[in-house]
Amino acid sequence: MIFNVMTLFPEMVENYFQYSILKRAVDSDIIKIQTINPRDYTENKHKKVDDIPYGGGAGMVLMAQPYVDAYESIEKLPKTLTVMLSPQGQPLTDSMVNEFSKFDQIILMCGHYEGFDERIRDIIKPVEVSVGDFVLTGGELPALCLIDSVSRKIEGTLGKIESADEDSFSNGLLEYPHYTRPREYRGLKVPDVLLNGNHKEINEFRQSQSIERTKLRRPDLYEKYKNK
Ligand code: SAM
Repeated sequence: MIFNVMTLFPEMVENYFQYSILKRAVDSDIIKIQTINPRDYTENKHKKVDDIPYGGGAGMVLMAQPYVDAYESIEKLPKTLTVMLSPQGQPLTDSMVNEFSKFDQIILMCGHYEGFDERIRDIIKPVEVSVGDFVLTGGELPALCLIDSVSRKIEGTLGKIESADEDSFSNGLLEYPHYTRPREYRGLKVPDVLLNGNHKEINEFRQSQSIERTKLRRPDLYEKYKNK
């Protein structure tokens, strides 16, 4: 999977892949991260990428020309998805992540300041994705959320030990609670059932914890699960 991240701050994105599981995925060529800076595509001598909004108002708007030219310079595979990170997009979910993981290439458009000149949307026609109903200063963190979550779904990224099969949302529920050593900490004991080696009982316990947790914390998910 190739991820092309369009950003005015490439280092913010590149650094994220220097660590842990995603570094391993990059080193083993399971994912490839390429950044592209619209500032390198400006046609003005000051390399200006933003300007004041027509009609007035606060903030600066990303200009269409550098962004569109940068986008058009990216070599595209037949199965390529283009995503604009935007608080006005569809909120990212696990099922969207599963769909996205079927592409061979994802181009991620990170905004900044007040956001994009509308003609960037008109010309590129990206899918717009949000990471929640709040506003960040830039699209880099949302792009990293998307790349991270999609990468976990690509075979080989997670070792067996980090399997995603039982993670929250994979079966419509939140995951059950985990415990590790020691058996007792500050008077809090690991539930006996997890120590008895009976896998049927352990699975039943985990399933019921998972259901209870979802019911309590995410009644919206629980309703969907119940009506499946
Ligand atoms: N003026 C825009 C609005 O109200 O819709 C917000 C612009 S925001 C300050 C700058 C950039 O950060 C956006 O263009 C987008 O790329 C990114 N961004 C901010 N919040 C986001 C969110 N919740 N999800 C995805 N991207 C977001």
